Amino acid sequence: MIGPANLDYVAHNRGGVLRKGAMKGIVFSGMQPSGTPHIGNKLGALDNWVKMQDEYDCIYGIVDWHALTTGYEDPKEVGRQSLELAMIWLACGLDPQKSTLMLQSAVPEHAELHLLFSMFLSLPRLERIPTYKEKLREIEGRNLTTYGFLGYPVLQAADILIYKSTHVPVGKDQDYHLELTREVAEQFNRLYGQLFPITQTVHTVFPVLPGTDGRKMSKSYGNTSSLTDSEDMIKDKVRNMVTDPQRIKRTDPGRPEVCPVYAYYQAFAPQEAERTAHECRNALRGCVECKLGLVEPVQAVVRPVREGVETWQQQPDEVARILHTGSQQARGRAQQTVTEVREHLGLWQP
Ligand code: SF4
Repeated sequence: MIGPANLDYVAHNRGGVLRKGAMKGIVFSGMQPSGTPHIGNKLGALDNWVKMQDEYDCIYGIVDWHALTTGYEDPKEVGRQSLELAMIWLACGLDPQKSTLMLQSAVPEHAELHLLFSMFLSLPRLERIPTYKEKLREIEGRNLTTYGFLGYPVLQAADILIYKSTHVPVGKDQDYHLELTREVAEQFNRLYGQLFPITQTVHTVFPVLPGTDGRKMSKSYGNTSSLTDSEDMIKDKVRNMVTDPQRIKRTDPGRPEVCPVYAYYQAFAPQEAERTAHECRNALRGCVECKLGLVEPVQAVVRPVREGVETWQQQPDEVARILHTGSQQARGRAQQTVTEVREHLGLWQP
């Protein structure tokens, strides 16, 4: 049996090495292929994913169907962006020998489970999810009053539960969706018999990084630094960062706690953070100088990723092969779960 209660399962079979037991649990996490990830994605999610590879049985999904929930009018780029995202993952240190790297649409069982969950989930429950209303307000110029968009967290629940994931690493903004995943599991288990674990949230230890303008970091605000930015692009972005708006003159004491530059020091040069805060509060350092000191630490984080992506771009077939292999491994597990789901519901097996 594959399940959280019995970790003595054969999770993977790579090069003849079976990973039995010893893992803390099963992890699923996904990322949409919608543009190049930014430095916040690396610090907030990807670095954490890399660390979890040695402790958990990890399945990481490029969730291309999720990208269609908002980008359904123009899906042509999603395939190319999925491959690019895989290159970024590999460059960031996700290792196909340790984790399963898969493409959501290559495992159609996710859609079947999504359909079955949607039979018992109530519409008002989905409409109450705060992020649904927030996104409807935030994303302009697109009709998002669609079933697909409302059902996004149901598909996410299917993504997670189809692997009987025990843990999901997410940012705080995804808490509402995880809450729904737990409710889905509980409701299913109550209606049809025990099958799914109640998935735990693993919060990333890294605080949310603000955008270069101090607002929430978001590609749609154009306030991010992407993981493939050149050295010059990073320099320009850092030099143009907003600072404490009340610090007008060099002699004004600053407030590092409201300044995104200071937040970046904490993230990219933590050994410099305390001195930066002290010199800022006591007007011992100018903002121009302060920002210049941040350029190299940010470049140092982006540089190996950009260079890694350039290397993987020379071998797109190999990247596609890795995704294909990972998707096949994931599919075997997903099929087993769906077989059990059908048994629980009393449906015929095809
Ligand atoms: S000195 Fe640095 S931390 Fe202080 S306001 Fe200026 S840029 Fe921000």
